[in-house]
Amino acid sequence: MQEDITKLTDEEKTDRGLSQRVDINTFSCENCGCKLVFDPASRKLVCEACDTKYPMPDPKPVTPIAYTGLSESTYQAWGGVKSVRCENCGATITLKEFETANTCPFCGSPVITDTDQIPGLKPNGILPFVLTEKEAHASFIKWLKRRIFAPHKVKKNAKHTPMKGVYIPTWVFSSDVFCTYEARFGQHYTVTVGSGKNRRTVTRTRWFHVSGSLNYNVRDLTIEASKMITQKQLEKIGGFDMPAAVEYEEEYLSGFSSERYSTGLDDSWEVAQSKICNDLRDLVRRRHPHDVEDYINIFPTYNGTTYEYMLAPLWVSGYKYRKKDYGFVVNGRNGKVAGKSPVSVVRAFIAALLGLAALAGVGYLIYYLFF
Ligand SMILES: [Zn+2]
Ligand SMILES: [Zn+2]
Repeated sequence: MQEDITKLTDEEKTDRGLSQRVDINTFSCENCGCKLVFDPASRKLVCEACDTKYPMPDPKPVTPIAYTGLSESTYQAWGGVKSVRCENCGATITLKEFETANTCPFCGSPVITDTDQIPGLKPNGILPFVLTEKEAHASFIKWLKRRIFAPHKVKKNAKHTPMKGVYIPTWVFSSDVFCTYEARFGQHYTVTVGSGKNRRTVTRTRWFHVSGSLNYNVRDLTIEASKMITQKQLEKIGGFDMPAAVEYEEEYLSGFSSERYSTGLDDSWEVAQSKICNDLRDLVRRRHPHDVEDYINIFPTYNGTTYEYMLAPLWVSGYKYRKKDYGFVVNGRNGKVAGKSPVSVVRAFIAALLGLAALAGVGYLIYYLFF
């Protein structure tokens, strides 16, 4: 049974070294000693207590790293941090060495266990939060308003839904792809056959082979490596504007959580390649107009492939409705929302009735006009 460390007294926490986080793991105010957090609005470190603002390090551009395959073991490890895992939702959260997490930033569960001391690669880039919590919350409310089937109670309670800012792990790939291909396509044509009463038009297919080559420059292909968001959701929230990313600096994490990647670099490159191959097939299809497809064989080679391990900003939250959890995420850059909202039975029923009424109306009209 996992211990709930939130229930420990301050003294017990000190005994176990748990309160050291205050001193060691945060940037503190020179004025009053309180915690500094990164403020997306001013892009500065701000003291939570006295509001003193401190400048961030000068933003430097991200340097992509050459991808040579099986890179994970050979690159710089992220020193001074450790990982903990949430037993409830499976997220792995990165903490500084002496820091402890009381609750999971994704699901709020207090059941957190230390995993390993191997935090993996150090991020080389970060896309800082642009949206404040307030703005992200406003986006969420707007999104929820558009869910016409969401129960009234959920919309009412949404005001009080707290949000957490989390940096999620992504791998960003660039590559110059050269690809040869061969394919067999078919084009339909019609002929008139037979004579007299039997004369008719039939459709036939003319098959043809094509081959050729393509140059395809892949830039900033972003693959999520998070447990908390799917590639589909990532696309739903509009992806991330990776060219705006800056070199990783610890200061951006102040006041936020960060998740460790759960899909490694090499596995993510596999995912990236299959996306690239889908694009290449589409390019071949577009180059050779056709009606039907027999097969497309592609032979891509990847040149000058680079990767960046990038942290991207997400406001996450969830709420309970009738004992079920509904999670949602807000893009910390553009405010786009992805998530599920419960469906009110009453609202859906009314909509179905209205739909039926509309159908009945149309039916009546057709009857009236034609019979
Ligand atoms: Zn202060
Ligand atoms: Zn969790």
